[in-house]
Amino acid sequence: MLQLRGVGPAIAEKLAAKGFTTVEHLLLNMPRRYEDRRTPRTVEDAAVGERIVIAGRIMKAQEARGRRRRLEVVVRDDKGGSLVCIWYHFRPNLFQRFKDNLFKQVLVSGEIREGYSGAGKVMNHPDVEWPGADAGLADDDSFGRVVPVYSDVEGVPPRTFRRLAKRAVDEYARFVHDVLPEAVRKRRKLLPLEEALREAHFPDRFAAELARGVPGGEPRRRLAFEELFVVQLGLALRRRGVKVEPGIAFRAAPGSLQRIAAELPWPLTGAQERAIQAIAADMRRPEPMNRLLQGDVGSGKTAVALCAARLAVEDGYQAALMAPTELLAEQHAQSLRVLLRGAPVHVELVSGGLSQRERSHAARLLHSGTAQIIVGTHALAEEATSFHKLGLVVIDEQHRFGVMTRARLMSKGHRPDVLVMTATPIPRTLALTLYGDLDTSVLDELPPGRTPIATKVFKDAAREKAYDVIRRELKAGRQAYVVLPLVEESEKLADLKAATKERDRLALDVFPDLPIGLVHGRQSPAERQEAMERFRLGEVRILVATTVIEVGVDVPNASVMLIEHAERFGLSQLHQLRGRVGRGAAKSFCLLITGTSGAEWGPVARARLKVMEETTDGFLIAEKDLELRGPGEFLGTRQSGMPDFAVAELARDQTILQEAREEAFALVQDDPDLKKPENVAVRDQLLNRWRGRLSLARVG
Ligand code: ADP
Ligand code: MG
Repeated sequence: MLQLRGVGPAIAEKLAAKGFTTVEHLLLNMPRRYEDRRTPRTVEDAAVGERIVIAGRIMKAQEARGRRRRLEVVVRDDKGGSLVCIWYHFRPNLFQRFKDNLFKQVLVSGEIREGYSGAGKVMNHPDVEWPGADAGLADDDSFGRVVPVYSDVEGVPPRTFRRLAKRAVDEYARFVHDVLPEAVRKRRKLLPLEEALREAHFPDRFAAELARGVPGGEPRRRLAFEELFVVQLGLALRRRGVKVEPGIAFRAAPGSLQRIAAELPWPLTGAQERAIQAIAADMRRPEPMNRLLQGDVGSGKTAVALCAARLAVEDGYQAALMAPTELLAEQHAQSLRVLLRGAPVHVELVSGGLSQRERSHAARLLHSGTAQIIVGTHALAEEATSFHKLGLVVIDEQHRFGVMTRARLMSKGHRPDVLVMTATPIPRTLALTLYGDLDTSVLDELPPGRTPIATKVFKDAAREKAYDVIRRELKAGRQAYVVLPLVEESEKLADLKAATKERDRLALDVFPDLPIGLVHGRQSPAERQEAMERFRLGEVRILVATTVIEVGVDVPNASVMLIEHAERFGLSQLHQLRGRVGRGAAKSFCLLITGTSGAEWGPVARARLKVMEETTDGFLIAEKDLELRGPGEFLGTRQSGMPDFAVAELARDQTILQEAREEAFALVQDDPDLKKPENVAVRDQLLNRWRGRLSLARVG
């Protein structure tokens, strides 16, 4: 744990809860914003709406009872101006502390507001600091300077946290090794590391710039640059590796491609056609294909994958399609069979639900090469699975797989071609960081005959209105989904009870006399398939589902989806879910129900869900999602194998990323083994920081 004065076991525990376990974590934890406390401000000259800090004496502290109970504290500054600070929620000890410190100095920071009925200027729920309260704090960095404001760490007062950050900077910043080659640093006008760290936390030279609200300015740019540079360097090195070793050069004859496409039930869209041409060109080349196929839900990725798979099969190779869930694998196998329309290609499903006998039968088919297109979950990557001649790997929804799984599957062939499909549009910034120069095809055109989906957010209290929409649609002969916010991997028995209960509640109170089905991740594949099939056939009119239906389910007659606790989902996930409707010719509806408590229905939640009402453009939604949640959560970092960034923020650091990338690729060009003395430091850094991640993070 932290070896820092002032960090005892209690504080250490609180810090660790937020992921701060080393001095480096503190150093790389950027302030959320800065506060300009260089010259004391007065109440008089503070403008309404301005966020400022006022230093003054506590003149009065009382509990006021008007319409709402509240704590009112009057602070008077040196010029005699009075400010009323108001708390509507407060702990008794806050009140007590003001009373105990009457006429003493205090520092309040917050937004200046106009008080009611001539009360003058007020601040609601300001941050408070108590100068001199912490004994032995001679070096006071909370006054007379531009002060960093960090994200709250529960149980660690902001003042204490700031002091620890100061110590970390003072005592350790100079020992951190600067890995950026001098030439790069000069060319890109970047600060030396030590200065960047110092300035990012306790700005001096850059005080004015940072106080103006430039997000982190030069110091942060330097730190973000280094982070991105190291990753890009890894990608550059990896890419060299990919280029040199030959893979399979398929024939992928234009004639074959034409025939395969003609056997599909409908003509390809322009976007599908372009994607397939690009894929065929990749497959012909001896280097392994490494292509990302992005397409919004319903854009027709499956057909593209099938064409690629058939090209591989034509040359006597096998193609494997790995899906993230059992349900999806089942669906894929079924879709492929439908799309093949009797063409003589053997599609085999390797599912976790198979009996021991079925399993060994499937294994034989795989091993002998009888099975030509193999669909399955991560079971495909397991040791027991062996292929006859694996030539193409298609990975659906790749961000759900760990890099190890991907790498293991690929190792089952001899440098197979890889096609990664994703319905979560990955913003360009992120794609670049994740895959480097991964080639990309985008299906930016939906198959004909789709209608837009109308989305509306309802508060819990207004859910009857949402049910009315469902009733209307059911009356018109259509079907509905009701989605509950249970994440598949964590589905617990209790959650499933809740799902069953919700089904029963709907059947009893809301939609009596209607057959209502239920699917969830804990059913056996057979049960699930049966439930889905009954819905597909229309025997079941409403399907209550957990998020297992997120991807791949295709029932064109379903025209309405109601999502419970919509605020718990990421935007991209909502978009995925919503894509299950709007697959037929009828106008479709997506009804988002939210909770009613503050956190569930606060301005942030509302703003997020509003995006869903406003657009059905998956790309826009993904960009917003990335912006609102950050890349980690956006992709589910734990599984994505993507490096976590401490400082860099992909949503806003596009320019920095581009620069870092240029430098990194140039460096590898010039010194492929990073053997030159000026590059040794960064090589060590690369080995240390990304060990085990970068080495496996290659997609193809
Ligand atoms: P995705 O996997 O990209 O979400 P799918 O491959 O499941 O999309 O395709 C969505 C639906 O569109 C399926 O019902 C599929 O049969 C249909 N489809 C795909 N391509 C075309 C096309 N070119 N013309 C008409 N329908 C298509
Ligand atoms: Mg699909």
